[in-house]
Amino acid sequence: MKPNGGYIQYIINPKSGSSSNKQLVSQFRDYLKERSFRVRIDLTQSLEHARELATRAAEDPECMLVLGAGGDGTIREVVQGMEGRKTPLLVVPSGTENLLGNELGFDVNVKTIIRAFEGDCVRALDLGRANGRCFTSICGFGFDGTVVKIVNEKRKGHINHMDYFWPLWQTFWGHRFPRFEVQADGEEIFSGHGMVFVGNISRYAIGLQLLHYADFGDGLLDLCIYRCRGRIHLLKHSAMTMLKHHANRNDVIYRKCKSIRVSSPSRWVNTEIDGDPGPTLPIEIEVVPQAVQVLVPPNAKPAGIRTRFLRMLS
Ligand SMILES: [Mg+2]
Repeated sequence: MKPNGGYIQYIINPKSGSSSNKQLVSQFRDYLKERSFRVRIDLTQSLEHARELATRAAEDPECMLVLGAGGDGTIREVVQGMEGRKTPLLVVPSGTENLLGNELGFDVNVKTIIRAFEGDCVRALDLGRANGRCFTSICGFGFDGTVVKIVNEKRKGHINHMDYFWPLWQTFWGHRFPRFEVQADGEEIFSGHGMVFVGNISRYAIGLQLLHYADFGDGLLDLCIYRCRGRIHLLKHSAMTMLKHHANRNDVIYRKCKSIRVSSPSRWVNTEIDGDPGPTLPIEIEVVPQAVQVLVPPNAKPAGIRTRFLRMLS
């Protein structure tokens, strides 16, 4: 990109992230200013506002790049606002959890952002839509829906990783695995007790490679269903997932598809979409292929459990 090619629109969620995250945003701004790039900065007041800003920028022929700085929630709204436009998006991860940023190969180092900016490596990013609500990462039905529900009931403002500990513990001991019926591309593929995950990225929280084969730009969603009725079985599934051996097991169904329907005879099933409480079942999910163009660091890979853990320690 050249400084005379137009302006760069910053869309920043001022509430998300720590001070080191905020530093990342300003470091990159300094880099752009030193190279005489024109930068416009807008702070988001709400998620809807983030989406509006993104649409306005993407529709402006003078805007050569949209830069979204925030957590997964902010980035999702920005992506949604830019759907179908050619203007590329640069994601600057600065929330508690940046599942999408991590999947695209970003970390919290300004050098990685500069590498993406200078590398001109543009890739298509699909979106998912669940009962009309967009998501960029992963939806979960059952166990993790309950964890997210408890976290949200207890939250007072900004959440960090430790806020998940007690809800996880509580859910682990109290959860009853509901019965699900799942259709993929119109075909009945599962009826039984367990957990269902649908997503567009391979790694879930803490870098867990849940949707092992997911590719964020292949025009398909990945579906992973764990047959499960109790705690021991859940622990076995967790261990196999950490070892990345779960996808080919007999008690796991793994598919790639364009549309998914999840329903349940139980009324108490909790759902989550991108880490927020989701709608009640039944849920119809479809893929929005190649919704936006994203700049990614060339040859970068998402960080797994070990890398993420080491980063957390440092
Ligand atoms: Mg995909």
